[in-house]
Amino acid sequence: MGEVPSWQWDEGTWRGHAGRIRAGRALVPGSWPGGARVAVALSFDSDHETIPLRDGDTGPGRLSRGEYGSRVGARRILALLEERQIPATFFMPAVSALLHPEEARRYVAAGHEIGMHGWIHERAEALPPGAERELALRAAGTLEKLTGVRPVGIRTPSWDFSPVTLAVIKELGLAYDSSLMGDDEPYEIVADGEPSGVVEIPVEWIRDDAVYFPMERYSALRPYASPRDVLRTWIDEFEGAYADGGLFQLTMHPHVIGHRSRMAVLAELIDHIASRPGVWFATHAQVAGYVRSHA
Ligand SMILES: [Zn+2]
Repeated sequence: MGEVPSWQWDEGTWRGHAGRIRAGRALVPGSWPGGARVAVALSFDSDHETIPLRDGDTGPGRLSRGEYGSRVGARRILALLEERQIPATFFMPAVSALLHPEEARRYVAAGHEIGMHGWIHERAEALPPGAERELALRAAGTLEKLTGVRPVGIRTPSWDFSPVTLAVIKELGLAYDSSLMGDDEPYEIVADGEPSGVVEIPVEWIRDDAVYFPMERYSALRPYASPRDVLRTWIDEFEGAYADGGLFQLTMHPHVIGHRSRMAVLAELIDHIASRPGVWFATHAQVAGYVRSHA
């Protein structure tokens, strides 16, 4: 290939890479619905068995960890949300929804949002040309067929964002993406200097259970924080959003957060948030829709 190393790139090259997908206009309304001071958007990526399946890892032991996410984690989460009367967004790979169709339908029946999360949790940046688009179209159709609801938002698997991801989002007519990290607050995605019309509900690894808790038997990956330490971090993130009058967004996974010692912390977090006046709990789609017309 004879590729030029990055330290030899000319200005146009590094500017071009950095400028392809950018955070545009911040979308922060003067106030949230009902005069609320902060928006709180909880999300759960219901990956279940698709992570090992994506890697071609068919060992029943590894798959059973994913099974736990559906069998135990998702049920506990739904019960907690129902008890506290809070809506949330569940991003679900299509293969996960096909393995657990009743769960996918339960999300919708309970008033939650179901969003796109790939076909089999594929890595978009590793796919051959055309595959990302084909899998995304198939995934959208599959979720719609299973639940009766066409998804309006996407969280790309592993937050991979390929050179064609935005085009796929626009072709699907999605209202928002939730895979980028350009701000704490919602913003409009700008592509090559042009506003895209797509709202970004930004994520961050700090606000993701997957960086604190998982472990891998044969690697050095081990949980490095206790659930109570993570609770402290998330409360501080929420308090910052509250002070700013902005958005507190959180990403979790049923197979990760769904364990007893972690669900206790999630319940405490929700109770802490709910104890503050002026909190608007919303789905990602509701936040995207609101900021589009009010910011
Ligand atoms: Zn995922």
